Amino acid sequence: MLNIILCGAPGCGKGTQSTLLVEKYNLKHLSTGELLRSEIESKSDVGKQAEKYISIGSLVPDQMIIEILLNAVDKYAATAAGFILDGFPRTVEQAAALEKAFEERNNKIDFLVDIQVETKELITRLLIRGETSGRSDDNLDTIKKRLQVYESKTAPVNEFYKNLGKYHSINGIGEISEISARISEVIDAELNK
Ligand code: ADP
Repeated sequence: MLNIILCGAPGCGKGTQSTLLVEKYNLKHLSTGELLRSEIESKSDVGKQAEKYISIGSLVPDQMIIEILLNAVDKYAATAAGFILDGFPRTVEQAAALEKAFEERNNKIDFLVDIQVETKELITRLLIRGETSGRSDDNLDTIKKRLQVYESKTAPVNEFYKNLGKYHSINGIGEISEISARISEVIDAELNK
């Protein structure tokens, strides 16, 4: 199996790049943002809980999202050649839980790819996306909050994976195809190790 985490601030292009990589490497894409939005759409109890956090730009509680993510992993593990995790882990607690859960399943996270984009560009992209996304969190105040949450809660996940020797970063500015090629280069180098 090949299990990759795509990490980066809101608006860095994780979702777009995941879609391209899924096709190229035949992986299953698990986006916790998408899993949560489908819970909200179906008006489930979890969805109702989650919406309160998402709409103000906060993270949903760790236990909630860890359970959702691991349920999805267990659902697809038998049929998938591997996973691209997009939007998870977003805290060091989630990262530790993920490492433990994969170990218990005799599986492992291979590495994390951090897509780097500067803040000004992120805000521009998210505001443009907000014009059509219909997402309650793509407005300026919530975007600023999400970027702060990224710095305080999620950036430490990069350090966590650096310490494990499983960290790569790439420049997330440029054409979508160029960025995709940069990520593929990292993946191919790892596969050929
Ligand atoms: P973006 O990367 O653009 O912020 P996502 O779709 O990944 O968008 O996530 C949207 C929102 O869903 C987040 O702001 C957060 O409230 C919630 N969320 C998604 N993944 C997680 C996670 N792993 N832990 C906690 N909250 C999460």
